[in-house]
Amino acid sequence: MKRIDNKELDLRVEVIAEVAGYLWERGWAERNGGNISINVTELCAAEAAALPALDGPYVLPKALPHIAGGCFLVTGTGRRMRYVASRPLENIALIRVAADGASYEIVADEAVRPTSELPAHLSIHDYLAGVGRPERAVVHTHPIELIAMTHNPAFLDKDVLTRLLWSMIPETRAFCPKGLGIVPYTLPGSQLLADRTIDLLDEYDVVMWTKHGALAVGTDLIEAFDQIDVLSKSARIYESARSMGFVPTGMSDAEMQELKEAFGL
Ligand SMILES: [Zn+2]
Repeated sequence: MKRIDNKELDLRVEVIAEVAGYLWERGWAERNGGNISINVTELCAAEAAALPALDGPYVLPKALPHIAGGCFLVTGTGRRMRYVASRPLENIALIRVAADGASYEIVADEAVRPTSELPAHLSIHDYLAGVGRPERAVVHTHPIELIAMTHNPAFLDKDVLTRLLWSMIPETRAFCPKGLGIVPYTLPGSQLLADRTIDLLDEYDVVMWTKHGALAVGTDLIEAFDQIDVLSKSARIYESARSMGFVPTGMSDAEMQELKEAFGL
């Protein structure tokens, strides 16, 4: 970031640009769809604390005590992933949460306003920090085939979609062993959407927002992206089989059990 001379922070910006490019290339990031955040408190809290605010403070929907004083790289509201990829510094904000956890200020670089899904992102970071989990990255995107599948009520019952996606190709279960949790359709940008997502974060690798998109957390952003990518691959295999005119058989229960035992899943 231009206002902070910190190589580790620069590397996080680079990886946001890299993943933003993947989201655009896959067709998951129409217009300004999707958003990314990384908790960089351990990298630059002292440097960020010394900077005067460019904008804010903005009050958060609810106080977030576990990330009080923390700082985060977040993609900007209305910003397109294809431009986050090509010109990251113009499309990513560095924000600093107040010492009481009740508001935030923008401290770098340009006065980019954070994503409209900031309540969900920061609430998730607050939850992860509060329970001592190691994940620092959150990505939300619009994977076409996975979203399409949430338009079928038959797939929305608990773990139906997880079992179907696992059965398309063995690696999906190996790389996404907890599967996909489903949040019923909820207003985008709302605190309720954040709360419903957090309720599923312990049980599942990826959370699907019905008729909207996917959200994943990871120790780094690549890990979070990969979880959605693996599930999306399975969804595309399912779609491909259906478009060839047949319902895919999927791996049998015995084959799934063999895989589970072989890899200790
Ligand atoms: Zn979205």
